[in-house]
Amino acid sequence: MQAEIITIGDELLLGMTVDTNSSFIATMLTEAGFTIYQITSISDSREHILKTIDEAFTRSDFVIVTGGLGPTSDDITKETIADYFNSSLVSDAATLEKISSMLKSRGLEMNENNRKQALVPDKCKVLSNERGTAPGMLFEKEGHSLVSMPGVPYEMKYIMETHIIPYIKHHFRKETIVYRTVMTYGTFEARLAEILEQFEEELSADVRLAYLPTAGIIKLRLTAGGEKREEALEKINRQIKKLQGIIPQYIYGYDGITLEETVGDLLESKSLTLGIAESCTGGRISGMITSVPGSSKYFKGAVIAYDNVVKIRELGVESAVLEKEGAVSKSIAAAMAEGVMQRLGTDFGVGTTGIAGPGGGTPEKPVGTVWIAVASAAGTVTGKFGFGMNRESNIRRASLAALNMLREQIISS
Ligand code: ATP
Repeated sequence: MQAEIITIGDELLLGMTVDTNSSFIATMLTEAGFTIYQITSISDSREHILKTIDEAFTRSDFVIVTGGLGPTSDDITKETIADYFNSSLVSDAATLEKISSMLKSRGLEMNENNRKQALVPDKCKVLSNERGTAPGMLFEKEGHSLVSMPGVPYEMKYIMETHIIPYIKHHFRKETIVYRTVMTYGTFEARLAEILEQFEEELSADVRLAYLPTAGIIKLRLTAGGEKREEALEKINRQIKKLQGIIPQYIYGYDGITLEETVGDLLESKSLTLGIAESCTGGRISGMITSVPGSSKYFKGAVIAYDNVVKIRELGVESAVLEKEGAVSKSIAAAMAEGVMQRLGTDFGVGTTGIAGPGGGTPEKPVGTVWIAVASAAGTVTGKFGFGMNRESNIRRASLAALNMLREQIISS
Protein backbone atom coordinates (compact mmCIF):
# COMPACT_ATOMS: atom_id res chain seq x y z
CA MET A 1 0.00 0.00 0.00
CA GLN A 2 1.52 3.26 -1.09
CA ALA A 3 0.66 6.72 0.23
CA GLU A 4 1.73 10.28 -0.43
CA ILE A 5 1.42 13.51 1.49
CA ILE A 6 1.01 16.94 -0.07
CA THR A 7 1.16 20.07 2.06
CA ILE A 8 -0.04 23.31 0.53
CA GLY A 9 0.85 26.85 1.54
CA ASP A 10 3.20 29.62 0.46
CA GLU A 11 4.30 30.02 4.06
CA LEU A 12 5.75 26.50 4.01
CA LEU A 13 7.91 27.38 1.02
CA LEU A 14 8.96 30.69 2.56
CA GLY A 15 10.25 28.78 5.57
CA MET A 16 7.85 30.60 7.90
CA THR A 17 6.01 27.42 8.90
CA VAL A 18 7.74 24.14 9.61
CA ASP A 19 5.88 21.26 7.98
CA THR A 20 5.05 19.29 11.13
CA ASN A 21 1.85 17.98 9.51
CA SER A 22 3.80 15.72 7.16
CA SER A 23 5.81 14.25 10.00
CA PHE A 24 2.66 13.46 12.01
CA ILE A 25 0.75 12.03 9.05
CA ALA A 26 3.74 9.99 7.83
CA THR A 27 4.14 8.42 11.28
CA MET A 28 0.46 7.49 11.43
CA LEU A 29 0.34 6.13 7.88
CA THR A 30 3.51 4.10 8.42
CA GLU A 31 2.05 2.59 11.56
CA ALA A 32 -1.09 1.79 9.58
CA GLY A 33 0.97 -0.19 7.09
CA PHE A 34 1.59 2.29 4.26
CA THR A 35 4.86 2.93 2.51
CA ILE A 36 5.24 6.67 2.02
CA TYR A 37 6.36 7.21 -1.57
CA GLN A 38 6.76 10.99 -1.48
CA ILE A 39 6.10 14.07 0.66
CA THR A 40 5.65 17.29 -1.29
CA SER A 41 5.16 20.90 -0.19
CA ILE A 42 3.73 23.23 -2.81
CA SER A 43 2.48 26.79 -3.22
CA ASP A 44 -1.15 27.97 -3.29
CA SER A 45 -1.15 27.85 -7.09
CA ARG A 46 -3.86 26.14 -9.13
CA GLU A 47 -1.52 24.67 -11.76
CA HIS A 48 0.89 23.44 -9.13
CA ILE A 49 -1.89 21.83 -7.06
CA LEU A 50 -3.45 20.14 -10.12
CA LYS A 51 -0.15 18.75 -11.38
CA THR A 52 0.99 17.48 -7.98
CA ILE A 53 -2.36 15.89 -7.11
CA ASP A 54 -2.60 14.22 -10.49
CA GLU A 55 0.88 12.67 -10.20
CA ALA A 56 0.29 11.48 -6.64
CA PHE A 57 -3.25 10.22 -7.18
CA THR A 58 -2.38 8.16 -10.26
CA ARG A 59 0.61 6.41 -8.70
CA SER A 60 -0.44 5.97 -5.03
CA ASP A 61 -3.31 4.22 -3.27
CA PHE A 62 -3.86 7.01 -0.78
CA VAL A 63 -3.06 10.73 -0.93
CA ILE A 64 -3.40 13.10 2.00
CA VAL A 65 -3.47 16.84 1.36
CA THR A 66 -3.33 19.48 4.10
CA GLY A 67 -3.69 23.25 3.96
CA GLY A 68 -5.33 25.84 1.80
CA LEU A 69 -8.93 25.32 2.93
CA GLY A 70 -9.47 28.64 4.63
CA PRO A 71 -12.02 31.27 3.66
CA THR A 72 -9.47 33.67 2.24
CA SER A 73 -9.18 34.16 -1.51
CA ASP A 74 -5.63 32.81 -1.75
CA ASP A 75 -6.84 29.45 -0.45
CA ILE A 76 -7.85 27.89 -3.74
CA THR A 77 -7.28 24.26 -2.89
CA LYS A 78 -10.94 23.37 -2.49
CA GLU A 79 -11.98 24.71 -5.91
CA THR A 80 -8.97 23.09 -7.57
CA ILE A 81 -9.55 19.67 -6.03
CA ALA A 82 -13.25 19.88 -6.87
CA ASP A 83 -12.32 20.56 -10.51
CA TYR A 84 -9.85 17.68 -10.50
CA PHE A 85 -12.66 15.32 -9.49
CA ASN A 86 -15.16 16.95 -11.91
CA SER A 87 -17.19 18.02 -8.92
CA SER A 88 -19.30 21.13 -8.30
CA LEU A 89 -19.29 23.03 -5.04
CA VAL A 90 -22.49 22.77 -3.00
CA SER A 91 -23.34 24.12 0.40
CA ASP A 92 -22.98 21.59 3.23
CA ALA A 93 -25.84 22.12 5.69
CA ALA A 94 -23.99 20.78 8.74
CA THR A 95 -20.91 22.93 8.10
CA LEU A 96 -23.05 26.03 7.44
CA GLU A 97 -24.94 25.43 10.68
CA LYS A 98 -21.69 25.05 12.62
CA ILE A 99 -20.22 28.26 11.18
CA SER A 100 -23.47 30.13 11.84
CA SER A 101 -23.68 29.07 15.48
CA MET A 102 -19.99 29.79 16.03
CA LEU A 103 -20.44 33.31 14.65
CA LYS A 104 -23.61 33.81 16.69
CA SER A 105 -21.83 32.86 19.91
CA ARG A 106 -19.25 35.56 19.12
CA GLY A 107 -21.93 38.10 18.16
CA LEU A 108 -20.82 38.17 14.50
CA GLU A 109 -22.78 38.23 11.25
CA MET A 110 -22.34 35.61 8.54
CA ASN A 111 -20.51 37.02 5.51
CA GLU A 112 -19.73 35.78 2.00
CA ASN A 113 -16.42 34.26 3.06
CA ASN A 114 -18.13 32.27 5.83
CA ARG A 115 -20.71 30.97 3.35
CA LYS A 116 -17.86 30.02 1.03
CA GLN A 117 -16.33 27.94 3.76
CA ALA A 118 -19.44 25.77 3.96
CA LEU A 119 -19.15 24.85 0.28
CA VAL A 120 -17.96 21.32 -0.40
CA PRO A 121 -17.49 19.34 -3.64
CA ASP A 122 -20.60 17.26 -4.35
CA LYS A 123 -18.51 14.14 -5.05
CA CYS A 124 -16.77 14.01 -1.68
CA LYS A 125 -17.61 12.51 1.67
CA VAL A 126 -17.53 15.31 4.24
CA LEU A 127 -15.38 14.59 7.31
CA SER A 128 -16.67 16.67 10.21
CA ASN A 129 -14.19 18.90 11.99
CA GLU A 130 -15.06 19.51 15.65
CA ARG A 131 -11.97 21.67 16.13
CA GLY A 132 -12.59 24.22 13.39
CA THR A 133 -14.91 25.33 10.62
CA ALA A 134 -13.41 23.77 7.47
CA PRO A 135 -14.30 20.07 7.21
CA GLY A 136 -12.11 17.37 5.69
CA MET A 137 -13.08 15.95 2.28
CA LEU A 138 -12.65 12.39 1.10
CA PHE A 139 -12.65 11.42 -2.58
CA GLU A 140 -12.56 7.91 -4.03
CA LYS A 141 -11.89 7.12 -7.69
CA GLU A 142 -10.77 3.97 -9.48
CA GLY A 143 -9.45 2.32 -6.33
CA HIS A 144 -7.52 5.39 -5.16
CA SER A 145 -8.47 7.71 -2.29
CA LEU A 146 -7.62 11.31 -1.52
CA VAL A 147 -8.30 13.31 1.63
CA SER A 148 -8.01 17.08 1.85
CA MET A 149 -7.84 18.62 5.33
CA PRO A 150 -7.22 22.02 6.95
CA GLY A 151 -3.58 22.88 7.56
CA VAL A 152 -4.00 23.86 11.22
CA PRO A 153 -2.21 21.00 13.03
CA TYR A 154 -4.79 20.77 15.83
CA GLU A 155 -7.62 20.34 13.30
CA MET A 156 -5.63 18.01 11.04
CA LYS A 157 -4.88 15.70 14.00
CA TYR A 158 -8.55 15.57 14.94
CA ILE A 159 -9.58 14.54 11.41
CA MET A 160 -6.75 12.00 11.15
CA GLU A 161 -7.67 10.32 14.42
CA THR A 162 -11.45 10.55 14.15
CA HIS A 163 -12.01 9.80 10.47
CA ILE A 164 -8.93 8.74 8.57
CA ILE A 165 -7.49 6.00 10.75
CA PRO A 166 -10.87 4.24 11.01
CA TYR A 167 -11.31 4.71 7.23
CA ILE A 168 -7.91 3.13 6.55
CA LYS A 169 -8.73 0.16 8.80
CA HIS A 170 -12.00 -0.38 6.99
CA HIS A 171 -10.98 0.40 3.42
CA PHE A 172 -7.38 -0.76 2.99
CA ARG A 173 -5.59 -4.01 3.71
CA LYS A 174 -5.45 -4.52 7.43
CA GLU A 175 -1.80 -5.39 7.90
CA THR A 176 -0.39 -3.98 11.12
CA ILE A 177 3.04 -2.46 11.07
CA VAL A 178 4.99 -2.55 14.32
CA TYR A 179 8.35 -1.09 15.14
CA ARG A 180 10.69 -1.16 18.11
CA THR A 181 13.89 0.76 18.67
CA VAL A 182 17.11 -0.50 20.19
CA MET A 183 18.96 2.37 21.87
CA THR A 184 22.73 2.34 21.52
CA TYR A 185 25.53 4.50 22.87
CA GLY A 186 29.29 4.30 22.51
CA THR A 187 30.00 4.02 18.82
CA PHE A 188 29.30 5.82 15.54
CA GLU A 189 26.98 4.92 12.70
CA ALA A 190 29.56 3.75 10.15
CA ARG A 191 31.20 1.45 12.72
CA LEU A 192 27.85 0.06 13.86
CA ALA A 193 26.85 -0.62 10.25
CA GLU A 194 30.12 -2.49 9.77
CA ILE A 195 29.54 -4.66 12.85
CA LEU A 196 25.95 -5.33 11.79
CA GLU A 197 26.68 -6.12 8.13
CA GLN A 198 26.04 -9.84 8.49
CA PHE A 199 23.04 -9.28 10.76
CA GLU A 200 21.52 -7.08 8.03
CA GLU A 201 22.23 -9.65 5.34
CA GLU A 202 20.49 -12.32 7.38
CA LEU A 203 17.42 -10.17 8.13
CA SER A 204 14.31 -11.68 6.60
CA ALA A 205 12.71 -9.60 3.87
CA ASP A 206 9.75 -8.63 6.04
CA VAL A 207 11.84 -6.97 8.76
CA ARG A 208 13.52 -3.66 8.02
CA LEU A 209 16.37 -2.02 9.92
CA ALA A 210 16.99 1.74 10.02
CA TYR A 211 19.83 3.66 11.69
CA LEU A 212 18.59 6.84 13.35
CA PRO A 213 21.57 8.76 14.75
CA THR A 214 21.17 11.78 17.00
CA ALA A 215 24.12 13.46 18.72
CA GLY A 216 25.88 10.60 20.50
CA ILE A 217 23.01 8.10 20.46
CA ILE A 218 22.09 5.78 17.59
CA LYS A 219 18.61 4.29 17.54
CA LEU A 220 18.23 1.07 15.60
CA ARG A 221 14.64 0.86 14.42
CA LEU A 222 13.28 -2.54 13.45
CA THR A 223 10.00 -2.57 11.53
CA ALA A 224 7.86 -5.57 10.64
CA GLY A 225 4.35 -6.18 9.38
CA GLY A 226 1.85 -8.94 10.05
CA GLU A 227 -1.80 -9.86 10.14
CA LYS A 228 -1.71 -9.47 13.90
CA ARG A 229 0.28 -7.10 16.07
CA GLU A 230 1.70 -9.98 18.17
CA GLU A 231 2.92 -11.74 15.05
CA ALA A 232 4.84 -8.65 13.84
CA LEU A 233 6.19 -8.00 17.32
CA GLU A 234 7.46 -11.57 17.58
CA LYS A 235 9.44 -11.14 14.34
CA ILE A 236 11.08 -8.00 15.74
CA ASN A 237 11.80 -9.46 19.17
CA ARG A 238 13.63 -12.39 17.55
CA GLN A 239 15.93 -9.89 15.83
CA ILE A 240 16.41 -7.89 19.03
CA LYS A 241 17.61 -11.07 20.76
CA LYS A 242 20.19 -11.48 18.01
CA LEU A 243 21.34 -7.88 18.44
CA GLN A 244 21.72 -8.43 22.18
CA GLY A 245 24.25 -11.14 21.33
CA ILE A 246 26.16 -9.04 18.77
CA ILE A 247 26.38 -5.58 20.37
CA PRO A 248 25.66 -6.02 24.11
CA GLN A 249 28.28 -3.37 24.98
CA TYR A 250 26.41 -0.65 23.07
CA ILE A 251 22.77 -1.38 23.92
CA TYR A 252 21.56 0.62 26.89
CA GLY A 253 17.79 0.32 26.43
CA TYR A 254 14.80 0.09 24.12
CA ASP A 255 11.95 2.06 22.57
CA GLY A 256 13.19 5.61 22.92
CA ILE A 257 14.36 5.47 26.53
CA THR A 258 17.06 8.05 27.30
CA LEU A 259 20.34 7.42 29.10
CA GLU A 260 19.16 9.56 32.02
CA GLU A 261 15.97 7.51 32.31
CA THR A 262 17.98 4.28 32.22
CA VAL A 263 20.32 5.55 34.94
CA GLY A 264 17.32 6.69 36.98
CA ASP A 265 15.62 3.29 36.66
CA LEU A 266 18.80 1.50 37.74
CA LEU A 267 19.41 3.78 40.75
CA GLU A 268 15.79 3.50 41.85
CA SER A 269 15.60 -0.27 41.46
CA LYS A 270 18.74 -0.68 43.56
CA SER A 271 17.79 2.07 46.07
CA LEU A 272 21.03 3.95 45.40
CA THR A 273 21.70 7.70 45.46
CA LEU A 274 23.68 10.09 43.30
CA GLY A 275 25.60 13.35 43.61
CA ILE A 276 27.30 15.17 40.74
CA ALA A 277 30.23 17.59 40.55
CA GLU A 278 30.23 19.37 37.23
CA SER A 279 32.86 21.63 35.76
CA CYS A 280 32.87 21.60 31.95
CA THR A 281 29.32 20.26 31.72
CA GLY A 282 28.10 23.22 33.81
CA GLY A 283 25.03 21.50 35.24
CA ARG A 284 23.92 19.75 32.06
CA ILE A 285 24.09 16.26 33.58
CA SER A 286 22.09 17.38 36.61
CA GLY A 287 19.57 18.97 34.24
CA MET A 288 19.22 15.72 32.32
CA ILE A 289 18.89 13.66 35.51
CA THR A 290 16.25 15.97 36.99
CA SER A 291 14.26 16.08 33.73
CA VAL A 292 13.13 12.56 34.65
CA PRO A 293 10.00 12.53 36.83
CA GLY A 294 10.70 10.94 40.23
CA SER A 295 14.44 11.75 40.16
CA SER A 296 14.23 13.15 43.70
CA LYS A 297 14.20 9.52 44.89
CA TYR A 298 17.84 9.05 43.90
CA PHE A 299 19.36 12.43 43.03
CA LYS A 300 20.65 14.33 46.07
CA GLY A 301 22.23 17.33 44.38
CA ALA A 302 25.15 18.79 42.49
CA VAL A 303 28.02 21.21 42.80
CA ILE A 304 28.72 23.26 39.67
CA ALA A 305 32.42 23.68 40.38
CA TYR A 306 33.50 25.85 37.47
CA ASP A 307 36.12 27.83 39.30
CA ASN A 308 39.05 26.15 41.05
CA VAL A 309 38.12 27.93 44.27
CA VAL A 310 34.78 26.12 44.24
CA LYS A 311 36.48 22.79 43.50
CA ILE A 312 38.73 23.32 46.56
CA ARG A 313 36.17 24.78 48.97
CA GLU A 314 33.05 22.79 48.11
CA LEU A 315 34.55 19.48 47.01
CA GLY A 316 37.80 19.25 48.99
CA VAL A 317 40.01 19.11 45.88
CA GLU A 318 43.63 19.70 46.92
CA SER A 319 45.16 22.90 45.58
CA ALA A 320 48.58 21.23 45.29
CA VAL A 321 47.12 18.62 42.90
CA LEU A 322 45.33 21.32 40.95
CA GLU A 323 48.60 23.20 40.56
CA LYS A 324 50.61 20.13 39.63
CA GLU A 325 48.22 18.39 37.24
CA GLY A 326 45.86 21.17 36.14
CA ALA A 327 42.09 21.30 36.50
CA VAL A 328 41.54 19.09 33.44
CA SER A 329 43.14 15.91 34.72
CA LYS A 330 42.37 12.42 35.90
CA SER A 331 43.18 13.26 39.55
CA ILE A 332 40.88 16.28 39.63
CA ALA A 333 37.96 14.42 38.00
CA ALA A 334 38.40 11.64 40.58
CA ALA A 335 38.72 14.09 43.48
CA MET A 336 35.57 15.90 42.35
CA ALA A 337 33.56 12.65 42.11
CA GLU A 338 34.82 11.44 45.51
CA GLY A 339 34.33 14.89 47.06
CA VAL A 340 30.71 15.23 46.02
CA MET A 341 29.96 11.63 47.06
CA GLN A 342 31.37 12.24 50.54
CA ARG A 343 29.89 15.69 51.08
CA LEU A 344 26.40 14.75 49.89
CA GLY A 345 26.57 11.27 51.45
CA THR A 346 25.57 9.46 48.25
CA ASP A 347 26.30 5.97 46.91
CA PHE A 348 27.68 7.36 43.65
CA GLY A 349 29.55 10.52 42.76
CA VAL A 350 30.24 11.78 39.24
CA GLY A 351 32.91 14.35 38.35
CA THR A 352 33.52 16.09 35.01
CA THR A 353 36.30 18.43 34.03
CA GLY A 354 37.34 19.43 30.53
CA ILE A 355 37.81 22.09 27.89
CA ALA A 356 34.50 22.73 26.16
CA GLY A 357 36.00 25.36 23.85
CA PRO A 358 36.21 27.11 21.55
CA GLY A 359 39.13 28.73 23.49
CA GLY A 360 41.30 27.38 26.28
CA GLY A 361 42.98 24.49 24.48
CA THR A 362 46.73 23.74 24.57
CA PRO A 363 48.80 21.25 22.52
CA GLU A 364 48.75 18.81 25.48
CA LYS A 365 45.10 19.41 26.30
CA PRO A 366 43.27 20.45 23.12
CA VAL A 367 39.67 21.70 23.05
CA GLY A 368 37.39 18.71 23.57
CA THR A 369 39.60 17.01 26.17
CA VAL A 370 37.36 15.81 29.02
CA TRP A 371 38.06 13.72 32.09
CA ILE A 372 35.14 11.96 33.75
CA ALA A 373 35.14 10.02 37.03
CA VAL A 374 32.55 7.87 38.75
CA ALA A 375 33.13 7.17 42.44
CA SER A 376 31.41 4.57 44.60
CA ALA A 377 32.22 2.28 47.52
CA ALA A 378 33.82 -0.09 44.98
CA GLY A 379 36.39 2.58 44.01
CA THR A 380 36.73 5.29 41.42
CA VAL A 381 36.85 4.73 37.67
CA THR A 382 38.01 7.44 35.30
CA GLY A 383 37.86 7.97 31.57
CA LYS A 384 39.58 10.42 29.21
CA PHE A 385 37.68 11.57 26.13
CA GLY A 386 38.67 13.59 23.10
CA PHE A 387 35.62 15.24 21.61
CA GLY A 388 35.63 17.99 18.96
CA MET A 389 35.82 21.75 18.58
CA ASN A 390 32.12 22.57 19.04
CA ARG A 391 31.26 23.77 22.53
CA GLU A 392 27.62 22.63 22.60
CA SER A 393 28.45 19.25 21.16
CA ASN A 394 31.31 18.79 23.65
CA ILE A 395 29.03 19.53 26.59
CA ARG A 396 26.37 17.13 25.33
CA ARG A 397 28.81 14.37 24.48
CA ALA A 398 30.59 14.71 27.83
CA SER A 399 27.24 14.52 29.64
CA LEU A 400 26.23 11.38 27.75
CA ALA A 401 29.64 9.80 28.36
CA ALA A 402 29.31 10.50 32.09
CA LEU A 403 25.80 9.03 32.20
CA ASN A 404 26.97 5.93 30.37
CA MET A 405 29.97 5.44 32.69
CA LEU A 406 27.64 5.83 35.63
CA ARG A 407 25.22 3.29 34.09
CA GLU A 408 28.03 0.74 33.72
CA GLN A 409 29.18 1.24 37.31
CA ILE A 410 25.65 0.90 38.72
CA ILE A 411 25.14 -2.33 36.76
CA SER A 412 28.35 -3.83 38.11
CA SER A 413 27.73 -2.63 41.69
P1 ATP B 1 -7.08 28.76 7.43
O1 ATP B 1 -8.51 28.77 7.82
O2 ATP B 1 -6.21 29.32 8.52
O3 ATP B 1 -6.79 29.38 6.09
P2 ATP B 1 -6.22 26.28 6.16
O4 ATP B 1 -6.76 24.94 6.24
O5 ATP B 1 -6.38 26.97 4.87
O6 ATP B 1 -6.73 27.16 7.35
P3 ATP B 1 -3.60 27.02 6.01
O7 ATP B 1 -4.07 28.40 5.70
O8 ATP B 1 -2.82 26.33 4.96
O9 ATP B 1 -4.73 26.11 6.45
O10 ATP B 1 -2.77 27.04 7.35
C1 ATP B 1 -3.29 27.54 8.56
C2 ATP B 1 -2.20 27.49 9.62
O11 ATP B 1 -1.91 26.12 9.92
C3 ATP B 1 -0.89 28.06 9.13
O12 ATP B 1 -0.77 29.43 9.39
C4 ATP B 1 0.12 27.28 9.88
O13 ATP B 1 0.35 27.87 11.14
C5 ATP B 1 -0.53 25.94 10.06
N1 ATP B 1 -0.07 24.98 9.05
C6 ATP B 1 -0.47 24.88 7.77
N2 ATP B 1 0.14 23.88 7.14
C7 ATP B 1 0.97 23.32 8.03
C8 ATP B 1 1.90 22.24 7.98
N3 ATP B 1 2.09 21.53 6.86
N4 ATP B 1 2.58 21.94 9.10
C9 ATP B 1 2.40 22.66 10.22
N5 ATP B 1 1.56 23.69 10.34
C10 ATP B 1 0.84 24.03 9.26
